[in-house]
Amino acid sequence: MSGAQVQVQTAAAGFHAGLAAPGQQRAAAGGEAGIRRLWWRRLSLSAFALAGLTVIVVWAGAAELLRAGRLESVLASGWAQLAAPGLIALVVAAGMAERIWPAEPRSVLARGHVQDACYLALHAIVVIPLMTLLSVGAAALLSDHAGWIELHRTQTWPAWLLVPVTIVAMDGANWLAHYADHRLGWLWRFHALHHSQEELSVLTSFRAHPLMHTTGFVLATIPVVALMPGRAIAPVLITVYVCIGTLQHANVRWTFGPVGRVIVSPAYHRLHHAREDQGINLGVVLTIWDVLVGRARFPSRADAAGRTGLAGRPVPVEQDAALPLGPLLLAGQLIEPFQAQR
Ligand SMILES: [Zn+2]
Ligand SMILES: [Zn+2]
Repeated sequence: MSGAQVQVQTAAAGFHAGLAAPGQQRAAAGGEAGIRRLWWRRLSLSAFALAGLTVIVVWAGAAELLRAGRLESVLASGWAQLAAPGLIALVVAAGMAERIWPAEPRSVLARGHVQDACYLALHAIVVIPLMTLLSVGAAALLSDHAGWIELHRTQTWPAWLLVPVTIVAMDGANWLAHYADHRLGWLWRFHALHHSQEELSVLTSFRAHPLMHTTGFVLATIPVVALMPGRAIAPVLITVYVCIGTLQHANVRWTFGPVGRVIVSPAYHRLHHAREDQGINLGVVLTIWDVLVGRARFPSRADAAGRTGLAGRPVPVEQDAALPLGPLLLAGQLIEPFQAQR
């Protein structure tokens, strides 16, 4: 969290906790202008700024595709990559593995599972088209305004070298975006929803605020535009990448053995979801970035059943039995980052 953010949030907390009465007096004295001031103080302007940035990138993507008459076909291919039969089969298989070898035994209809199923529906309806337009929009904006990043020299590289290098660089950009989510308070407000899950399962991969994806997609597009200008990574490779990123939330103790030193395993990622400290194991698919910056902690099988969620429940969660389960709570969880922190 940045210092400025802490100051703003501390000021807001002080206002809500102890200064409400004088504030109310000022509002009464200042009439309508005072009331308007109080209303604005209840909103997080940085959240609206991120929403505005997302609209700009999505707009650029949609405009580019409409100009080329390819909006429908590109949205369909986005679906084919991000909801591929292979990914659906993986989610089903992981769900079965969770029943047979659970890290933490729980009912199939646990509140966390039901709520995350709502996020799966949101992902299919809203997030997949959003991700597709973010990728196209970021690539279009970068090509138009930062064409100098395109390395035409790499075009002579053979595909067996260029594609893996691009995917590794893309994973590094995703790591950086994830690191920023944890370091910058205004991004953390959106990422916290993902970490709020106290009953981790394979469905938690889809439990994310739609606006959480903006920085990751913009950053991850940079190496793609730089290394493979005008070309695309084969859809099957994107699907494989997404599959590995999805499996890591499964409620199993798998460490992947020696492969888990390089590829993020469910046990490795579960340590990142630990209740008290989320500063380790930030890797999205590869662990190398965590190793390079000293943030990797490789798990034992015993680590794979640690408690998850956020201490103090800063985000409303379904494990609070007083809250309604389903779309109403989902709406409350999505609105939460737009409220100034109390
Ligand atoms: Zn995280
Ligand atoms: Zn996660």
